[in-house]
Amino acid sequence: MGILEVNNLKKSFGAIHAVKDISFSVEVGEIFTIIGPNGAGKTTTLEMIEGLQKPDFGTVEIKDLEWKKHEKKIKQMIGIQPQSSALFDLLTVYENLDVFSSFYEKKRPIEEILHLINLQDHRKQKVKALSGGQKQRLTIGLAMVNDPDLIFLDEPTTGLDPQARMNVWDIILSFKKMGKTIILTTHYMEEASKLSDRVCIVDQGKIIAIDTPKNLINQLTHERKIQLLMNEEITDYITPMINHLKEHESITEVQHQEHLFTITSTHPDESLYHILHYTRANNLSIEQVSIDELDLEDVFITYTGKEWRD
Ligand code: ATP
Repeated sequence: MGILEVNNLKKSFGAIHAVKDISFSVEVGEIFTIIGPNGAGKTTTLEMIEGLQKPDFGTVEIKDLEWKKHEKKIKQMIGIQPQSSALFDLLTVYENLDVFSSFYEKKRPIEEILHLINLQDHRKQKVKALSGGQKQRLTIGLAMVNDPDLIFLDEPTTGLDPQARMNVWDIILSFKKMGKTIILTTHYMEEASKLSDRVCIVDQGKIIAIDTPKNLINQLTHERKIQLLMNEEITDYITPMINHLKEHESITEVQHQEHLFTITSTHPDESLYHILHYTRANNLSIEQVSIDELDLEDVFITYTGKEWRD
């Protein structure tokens, strides 16, 4: 039994079926990421789990408790990152944490939270004077004031620059180290890959794939592209080389633009061996070689047939 059980959630707004039938289970200590394009239904799903929206159908159980019967108890056990707009601009960082903390019976010491979100030196600063990244870190800290077991972060790095984004990643990973369970939504595939134990890819209100990032990628076809930049002495060898490469069973396509070859292969390691054998036998020099890496973006494209856009 997981810390969170989501069963057959559905939600429509008039004719828009925002969430069509979503079920999953999350184990204690996991970082579980819901990823999908704009309008996929991530926020609606998250808000139904957080008790902020009522599902049309389906159930949510947090540590075996349901919102209908145990609202007060669940609220004490979960931490929700608020929007930056929920911050009190004229209060200091410390005062904001103090106000939010007063809503809960159980509390985590504010000094500890300031340290976790790396805002110790800004405790006396008013929110209106913080940078975007600092505000975002404060909202993440607010999700921690009641020392919850389950933390919800809805797009915690959207709009941040790469450095500020990495700072947020460090905070999320430090929460995991403390044994917390984290449910995250994001637009960023790289973020999902780096942080998540498991990823749930949603599109048009439905789960299209759910697994560890590694398993999702490994399930894809092994066809990969090898790029080979040859020295200019290749000029006289272009046609014979293409013909030779195409003979190998693992090579499905060979394209070239001047000295740059793009070779599509079902078994890149074998193809590479074949390529190197040919270039060495003919005394041809290779200037650069690379094999493209598959990532979660390829998983999305494979399942939906659509390009991924951040
Ligand atoms: P984004 O990444 O853009 O935040 P999302 O994946 O979180 O998107 P949702 O915000 O859950 O998607 O929206 C899913 C669909 O439901 C969208 O078509 C959206 O316009 C619609 N929707 C969401 N909330 C409402 C609402 N309160 N009234 C009407 N339509 C809504």
